[in-house]
Amino acid sequence: YLKERIKSLEKGKKTYPEVKFLTYKDRKRILISGGAGFVGSHLVDRLMMEGHEVTVVDNFFTGRKRNVEHWLGHENFELINHDIVNPLFIEVDQIYHLASPASPPNYMYNPVKTIKTNTIGTNNMLGLAKRVRGRLLLASTSEVYGDPEIHPQPETYWGHVNPIGPRACYDEGKRVAETMCYAYAKQDAVQVRVARIFNTFGPRMHMNDGRVVSNFILQALQDEPITVYGEGTQTRSFQYVSDLVEGLIKLMNSNYSQPVNLGNPDEHTILDFAKIINGLVGGKSKIVHKPAMTDDPRKRKPDIKVAKSQLRWQPKVSMMSGINKTIEYFRGELHRSRHSERN
Ligand code: NAD
Ligand code: UDP
Ligand code: UDP
Repeated sequence: YLKERIKSLEKGKKTYPEVKFLTYKDRKRILISGGAGFVGSHLVDRLMMEGHEVTVVDNFFTGRKRNVEHWLGHENFELINHDIVNPLFIEVDQIYHLASPASPPNYMYNPVKTIKTNTIGTNNMLGLAKRVRGRLLLASTSEVYGDPEIHPQPETYWGHVNPIGPRACYDEGKRVAETMCYAYAKQDAVQVRVARIFNTFGPRMHMNDGRVVSNFILQALQDEPITVYGEGTQTRSFQYVSDLVEGLIKLMNSNYSQPVNLGNPDEHTILDFAKIINGLVGGKSKIVHKPAMTDDPRKRKPDIKVAKSQLRWQPKVSMMSGINKTIEYFRGELHRSRHSERN
């Protein structure tokens, strides 16, 4: 009986993506807070395949197990269901601190929790980095520039943020998170890295998180009206997720400790973006205008001179090819959700 049982277990044995072998000296213990989310799960894939030991902490507010399930059970991988507002004691070498709701509808859903995650949560991650003498990279955001008066935005720009508006829980939360990083660096010699991430898209974005890329693609795929908020003259610059992941890893392992913009400077108005997506999907959607969002930044485009010179990094994936990959992903997701509804 046992022989049969072992045989059947072996047959159903889980196979994993290929992982490089690293010697003990080169292998790092890496914590990713928010690692079950969109960006975090792609970072998990890269670091696992490079041969590191990866621990994810996530409370599954916007992330999901499915994003990392292909690693569950792997000896180098661990998933901890934990809210970073509470202290966490583990032993690691590097921390990628990504935990925070990221899309406007998600971070506005519970603004107090957004602030707590970015302040108390960041404090806990920094306390952890301090105790283990590790290095922490904060996933900050272009939102620290608010509705910018300088275009494109260099890291030296201090920003133009409404401290009490609907976006403040996120913008100000990230601003104080940055402040905390440099306070711990100064006072306790914690090694910090700060990435100011600009709009990023790609597979594993949530279907319903309300961001412009997911909204427009889903609307176009379902022949529903494409909803442009306001006139659509506001601009954004979109980067594909694999470029961001490359930038985050380069920044973590560089000697540069000041904030670095990571984004693709390819800028479009939202109305153009709606037309581009509609064209690529080949759907029959019409474009409709909805009321503008309060405090919606009118333009946004990264100045990436620092990333180019300090990290030798620049985006490689064009917006068109990234959008096509994302459309394919959403097609699959729609098919999946229809199928699971029937069953
Ligand atoms: P996401 O929502 O997919 O991922 C965030 C993850 O953090 C989720 O898995 C969520 O469950 C987890 N989380 C939230 N609060 C938590 C808490 N209190 N404790 C533990 N886990 C918690 O978002 P994303 O797009 O992957 O963003 C990742 C990071 O990058 C965020 O910090 C975000 O602010 C930053 N960022 C993203 C973008 C973008 O365009 N995607 C742009 C700028 C900055
Ligand atoms: N902390 C944590 N994990 C650790 C070390 C600290 O979560 O491994 C938390 C700790 O509970 C505290 C925060 O990080 O709330 C800041 O730690 P720090 O040592 O700076 O402050 P203190 O403990 O002296 O208040
Ligand atoms: N937007 C839109 N229609 C949508 C969703 C968003 O016109 O269905 C606009 C939004 O007002 C903003 C831009 O698209 O000007 C980017 O929004 P998103 O929420 O993706 O990210 P943000 O850069 O505002 O954080």
